[in-house]
Amino acid sequence: MRILLVEDEDEMASALSAVLKSYDMLADRATSLMEAAEIMLAGAYDAILLDRNLPDGDGISLIPKLRAKAIPTPVIVLTARGQLSDRVTGLDTGADDYLAKPFAVEELLARLRAVWRRAADLQPDIVRLGRLSFNLNHCEAEVDGQLLELPRRELLVLQTLMRRMGRTVVRSSLEAAVYSLDEEVQSNALDTHVSRLRRKLTEAGAGVEIHGIRGVGYLLRAAS
Ligand code: CA
Repeated sequence: MRILLVEDEDEMASALSAVLKSYDMLADRATSLMEAAEIMLAGAYDAILLDRNLPDGDGISLIPKLRAKAIPTPVIVLTARGQLSDRVTGLDTGADDYLAKPFAVEELLARLRAVWRRAADLQPDIVRLGRLSFNLNHCEAEVDGQLLELPRRELLVLQTLMRRMGRTVVRSSLEAAVYSLDEEVQSNALDTHVSRLRRKLTEAGAGVEIHGIRGVGYLLRAAS
């Protein structure tokens, strides 16, 4: 799990990073709104822990920007402002949860597990991004209601990316989705499927783009 920690206070940030690391979660850190906006739109996070009082503004102003890009990464707002009205504002803005400082590490971990569980439960049969809709049960892609005919492996790549849209899917997960264990996989076979799929999506005007992260994997997002 990869977490983006948006926190300007060094002591708080290093304590949290250490805790997350001890639970095998990687934490990247941003110390301002501006920095966070840049990093989070790369979309490679499983959760964002967001401080409200940042040097250049209120952390929750980031949430609408995230959702506007169809990035569903769960956001837990961490703040010293524990007042009811602030909690309501935070949740109304699209935060998935709200945690007032100081908090126990166990509570933070429990809430992270809860947002991930909820995200998994809410996964619908049909997911949409741009003009593309994908039926996860039937493994069918449509652009504006027109069936998009794709070879099986390209469909499986697209299915895996749609399931985790806005987040990086590592190469090994994509290969595992596309090939059975006993198949010999050429090292560049995945890239070939992805580049064909990318071309077909563009030709069909799907309004999505497959962004490659060199040596790591791919992520699907709305075309910019
Ligand atoms: Ca702060």
